Amino acid sequence: MNYTEHFEKIVKEQLARVEELKKAQEAPDFSSMEKIVIGTIDGDGIGPVIMDSCRSVLESLLADEIASGRIELRRIEGLTIENRIARMETVPSDVLEEIKKCDLLLKGPTTTPGKGDGRPNLESANVTLRRELDLFANVRPVVIPEKNINWIFYRENTEGEYALGSKGVDISDDISIDFKVTTTAGTRRLARAAFEYARNNGNMNVSIVTKANIMKKTDGKFLSLCMDVAKDYPEIKVDDWYVDIMAANLIDDKINSSFGVFILPNLYGDIITDEAAQLQGGVGTAGSANIGGRYAMFEAIHGSAPRMIEDGIGEYANPSSLCRAAVMMLRHAGLTDKAQKLETALDKAAEALDMPGDGSGNTAADFTEYVLKVL
Ligand code: NAD
Repeated sequence: MNYTEHFEKIVKEQLARVEELKKAQEAPDFSSMEKIVIGTIDGDGIGPVIMDSCRSVLESLLADEIASGRIELRRIEGLTIENRIARMETVPSDVLEEIKKCDLLLKGPTTTPGKGDGRPNLESANVTLRRELDLFANVRPVVIPEKNINWIFYRENTEGEYALGSKGVDISDDISIDFKVTTTAGTRRLARAAFEYARNNGNMNVSIVTKANIMKKTDGKFLSLCMDVAKDYPEIKVDDWYVDIMAANLIDDKINSSFGVFILPNLYGDIITDEAAQLQGGVGTAGSANIGGRYAMFEAIHGSAPRMIEDGIGEYANPSSLCRAAVMMLRHAGLTDKAQKLETALDKAAEALDMPGDGSGNTAADFTEYVLKVL
């Protein structure tokens, strides 16, 4: 391999991407849309189990809107690891075409082949979808009422280490190099979304989390751009932290309730949000939103839990993660009353049911039955 050419190609691709970013697409106005198409994607592993539950819940909650044709729940088939490997496409082109016909997406977890598991080295379907649909902000709320914690994480979703994660090079047996990218447009739009949220929710504190002391170019740029956007929000208290100490802060009960909105580059956001979800009660309890201009995709924060399927306990998967994502989706579409109704039902289910996901306690079917009864 000619490394200079390889690097030049990466740089050219990113420069072209930056030009595309400048032509940002407007978000749709859901209130004026005659029909909202919600695409549901089962995914792999426990995906079909939790999606079955979530679809039943939505069919009941949105029965009137579905009957009148204002909302369509449309099944998108084919985003399975089997089909993706058979086609040797991370997101098969016909599936992507169907996805792009929807306004909102509710997605189950998808398996990514890992190094050494004998499967072809396909890119993560999520990374591809985030890039193809330009879903630049990964938004994850974490609420722990008994500790007075009300956090919301804005993780950059299309840049950092992930944008170029499959473009690294093995120079020799002795050296491997990966690449990381930060762009001005990509950072500014994320920071803007986070500060707007902070302002619209009572001027919450904003914390910017990087490792700018070590990754001086990419994280340094991210931090200084966030600080620049902060100047437009003088009423909001802003601070910045290194990711290592923030990992400690989240479990420090003396200070953790003082944090509100977090802004993080991709990799740190990935790690810190799983830590936060664990504090809330486990990855099975948390939903997330991937927000772009034209599209928005909502999903659980966990993966496809292949071990649960191998152990024959897939039916014990907790659907509340995906249902919490559905709450975020309904709010995003302006269906606030429906979102509130579902959220209340999920809170009651969390109290009433025991779902550790280890083959004991309640099943996903018990969960569906309980939530439908409350609704
Ligand atoms: P995982 O999130 O699938 O599992 C981590 C742990 O959480 C396991 O013990 C699992 O049993 C438990 N768990 C997850 N969801 C649960 C639920 N709803 N109810 C109860 N318990 C639950 O993480 P992993 O094993 O690292 O990843 C498995 C696969 O998922 C990998 O191929 C990974 O790439 C993929 N993945 C996909 C997404 C996505 O599509 N958004 C996100 C993360 C991982």
